[in-house]
Amino acid sequence: MRARIGLFGGTFDPVHYGHLRLAETALIECSLDRIVFIPAAMPPHKLASELTSFHHRVEMLRLALRHRPEFECSSVEAHLPTPTYTIETLRHLCRQYAADTDFFFLTGLDAFLEIQTWKEYNQLLAMATFIVSERQREQLSPFKAQLAGELGYSTAGTIWKSNDGRLPVHFLTQAPLTVSSSTIREKIRQGEPIDDMVPEVIRRYILEHQLYRGEAGR
Ligand code: ATP
Repeated sequence: MRARIGLFGGTFDPVHYGHLRLAETALIECSLDRIVFIPAAMPPHKLASELTSFHHRVEMLRLALRHRPEFECSSVEAHLPTPTYTIETLRHLCRQYAADTDFFFLTGLDAFLEIQTWKEYNQLLAMATFIVSERQREQLSPFKAQLAGELGYSTAGTIWKSNDGRLPVHFLTQAPLTVSSSTIREKIRQGEPIDDMVPEVIRRYILEHQLYRGEAGR
């Protein structure tokens, strides 16, 4: 049997229940064996000064995932040239995993709608099956239909297909949570509670290291 490995890239600044819900849903709906969370060391679209240190983001992921044997955190992007492009990360992982591995790439719809700005995106769509969570569905669905047309996919229910070697794109049916990392950072700055947005162990880590209160801890 071929291994089915989910790859979940993001800044995870910090990891929250929305990320965890997406991973749990993808694991079940797409019958994945494992999911590897891959925090971005230096993503092309962000400035280093906007990000919390890689160390803190990785530590928070490790804490959030520690009781889930199917989930792991990989620091692979810290060892790749910067800025780090997803296609390069995927090529690197393809060399590390056995040849009989199928890769799945998890994203929210907001990120997937930007796919045409990603380096070698058609190659990426041929190397990994994208699994998309319909975050902000109401606002974003007109853009979703437009993207299917621009990329030349035929759409049938929750699956997009192409006949040119690119893999299908799966849309998850379970509704995502509305939480985002930027809302969490803003709430912390305002001194508001974040208990319903992150696991308790993450809330304590943020408090202990005084993250997101300003420049301290970055
Ligand atoms: P920020 O608010 O700082 O932009 P974020 O909450 O979107 O952060 P990221 O780490 O940038 O978190 O997201 C990584 C991936 O997870 C992206 O593909 C994003 O669309 C997806 N994602 C983030 N939050 C959710 C959510 N609540 N539901 C579904 N997908 C999500």
